[in-house]
Amino acid sequence: MNSGDYQKMVDEQAAVMGVMPCPVKLDDKGSAATDRKSIFINPSFASKVAATAGVNGIRFVLAHELGHARGGADGGHSGEFAADQWATQSLVRAGIGAEPIEGVMSMLPASDSKSHPGANARADRAVKEWHSMTGLRPRPMRSFSGPARRNDRMTPIRPHRFRER
Ligand SMILES: [Zn+2]
Repeated sequence: MNSGDYQKMVDEQAAVMGVMPCPVKLDDKGSAATDRKSIFINPSFASKVAATAGVNGIRFVLAHELGHARGGADGGHSGEFAADQWATQSLVRAGIGAEPIEGVMSMLPASDSKSHPGANARADRAVKEWHSMTGLRPRPMRSFSGPARRNDRMTPIRPHRFRER
């Protein structure tokens, strides 16, 4: 993956949501961020995301930042939930399953911080959003290693327990 690949993902997620994309810039500090003009991604963080959640995990992270930049939400915990919701909607519109979202959330701290809600609450809401948009459920959890496939087969919704880790 290089900056062109990240830019392509942002362009695609912006297109399916009908918003203008942001330029993607590499930043060796932190994980991912936005100043609402550009999106910043740390390539070493992106590699870890790809290893755990597949390349569409990177897409979710970038879409989350695009949600901050273009989704119109304020900061704080509600802003994080809103960016997750926006990113989830963009993945559904791109025909992508919920597994990359679950994979990314499995990497994030479980407990609340000042800026971010805990990963379990975020995962729970995002997967519910995915379900509400699709009326489908992802296939049973499997290993996140390897790239997520774009056209994962979907099965009809059934009650299930979401596994965070
Ligand atoms: Zn955020």
